[in-house]
Amino acid sequence: MTPAEDTAHYASKGTIRVLQLYPREMNIYGDWGNALVLQQRLLWHGYTPELLEYNVGDDFPEDIDIIVGGGGQDSGQIVIQDDLQSRAEHLREMAEGGTPMLVICGLYQLFGKFFKTKAGPVIPGIGILDVETVGTDERLIGNVTLTSPEFGEILGYENHSGQTTLSGGVEPLGTVSKGAGNNSKDGHEGARHRNVVASYLHGSLLPKNPAIADFLIRTAVERKYGTFVPGTPDDGFARLAREHAAKRPR
Ligand code: GLN
Repeated sequence: MTPAEDTAHYASKGTIRVLQLYPREMNIYGDWGNALVLQQRLLWHGYTPELLEYNVGDDFPEDIDIIVGGGGQDSGQIVIQDDLQSRAEHLREMAEGGTPMLVICGLYQLFGKFFKTKAGPVIPGIGILDVETVGTDERLIGNVTLTSPEFGEILGYENHSGQTTLSGGVEPLGTVSKGAGNNSKDGHEGARHRNVVASYLHGSLLPKNPAIADFLIRTAVERKYGTFVPGTPDDGFARLAREHAAKRPR
């Protein structure tokens, strides 16, 4: 049964439109799984999900409730850079207006001020997040555990050469106890601004961290419909995945 057919079994509480940014170039280590988790959890909560994609050159869809974006190689980030700049103002307005967004790794970097790649080119960011990223010779790879004041323990996997430094105006997502996160020295991971959650973690992130998925969903529903009436998600898989992930070495 497709997720759309599934909704035929109950009266939907409303429709939530989820847009995945640049899945052609920015979808590494299964980051597309984040959109699939939102789709399934929206169904469990009794809402109808609509999954959309935006790639270079597309018309930007209207009435988007949640934005997700994944990671990619430096070469992919270079491919999307001009198109992303052409959408910068719109995305900044959406972020400042409170649209919930999840950006991972390569798009986290480009939601910041710039990414100076190891090979030399500087890829401009769109400045939603007050962060800067510089490519280094040290690749940060491995499993990560962090504690976030909002979401509790977050588990995932990182693989990046860019190291990100946060400025005063932006809070980290949390403090790492395993792995590196934003860079090799500060001991924190990711960034938070308005309803934007930015993180280096793949895995993908949301299957193991449903609290973040439900934050995005709850925020989107409250903005659109006033109140969020939760359903009863099946968290069994997430629990198993977390138990398994917690046992993994660095
Ligand atoms: N290309 C970027 C880096 O290496 C982002 C990598 C990623 O998205 N995994 O830092």
